[in-house]
Amino acid sequence: MGGNPAAYKVAISVARRNGCFQLASGFAAAALVVSARKYGQTKSVLMAQPPRVVRTVAPLRRAVTKWRTSSERIALVPTMGALHAGHLALVRAARRRARRLVVSIFVNPAQFAPHEDFASYPRTLDSDLAALAEMAVDLVWAPSVAAMYPPGFATRIVPEGPATAGLEDKFRPHFFGGVATVVGKLLLQCAPDFAMFGEKDYQQLKVVTRLANDLDLPVKIVGVPTVREKDGLALSSRNAYLSASERAVAPTLHRVLEDCSAKIARIARERPYGELLARVVDEGGAAIERSGFALDYLEARNAETLRPVASAKDGPIRLLVAARIGKTRLIDNIAV
Ligand code: AMP
Repeated sequence: MGGNPAAYKVAISVARRNGCFQLASGFAAAALVVSARKYGQTKSVLMAQPPRVVRTVAPLRRAVTKWRTSSERIALVPTMGALHAGHLALVRAARRRARRLVVSIFVNPAQFAPHEDFASYPRTLDSDLAALAEMAVDLVWAPSVAAMYPPGFATRIVPEGPATAGLEDKFRPHFFGGVATVVGKLLLQCAPDFAMFGEKDYQQLKVVTRLANDLDLPVKIVGVPTVREKDGLALSSRNAYLSASERAVAPTLHRVLEDCSAKIARIARERPYGELLARVVDEGGAAIERSGFALDYLEARNAETLRPVASAKDGPIRLLVAARIGKTRLIDNIAV
């Protein structure tokens, strides 16, 4: 992080906020005194070091137990790494709720099918840790696959309800079993009061919320709004796979979602609602395909149950889309 200009800026602004160059309350780990001459500063300022990384369950439990014994609230942000501003929005939302922050970084093999991108999924631990050093994260839980799934591991959570809505599950049948199993483990390992999930993966948010309720886990699942590029493309670690020409087309997904959402709001009182709604969605799907995507689905669903919507009373509606361009599969969704 020593060469990261953003880190200098954060350190300077933290120091300024505190008036006297003391360590900001809540800052994880030790502080490092650096000279910020690059920014015309002549005084020494404090800079956070990367958070502690824990790779096995025993030290994780010791840290968590210590915090719980001191009645300190814990928030967990589960990620697969390759962190971007969307992940950092989750970390910020977590910081507002809890004194202690755990970010998990684990590319979970159980949620990838053999033909999917588990091997090539971006792994950028050093830059992830540098980003988290600026976010007052207490601990990064980064288990190996063997630590998460030791030899003999034989238990799997099989979610139903929103996990069988016929959206992502239809195209990635293995996916929510893998997600539910690893999230169940993460929640038991980290024992958080809050766990943050992005609305970007909307069906996943609903599956995890159901999981925590159904298993009586003492955690509040918190949904965080999607962070987007200026042109509307939802931030995703997989955006890195896009070629320049694919990247230029990618914002179509959000544009079509917005367009459909506006049209659906306009037909709210018109009849026959179901047919009009289906037409809006069909036209939206066609627009996505015309732009160069292969469409997996564009669907209007009840925002809570994810069940199909046939009449106006079946709302509120969430529009969800998944489509492929080149080798990349993108998903997105918005509220109507
Ligand atoms: P991932 O690392 O892709 O598994 O994502 C980890 C968490 O970050 C999940 O809860 C995602 O929904 C969330 N997330 C990913 N992208 C975004 C985004 N653009 N805005 C908000 N949350 C996001």
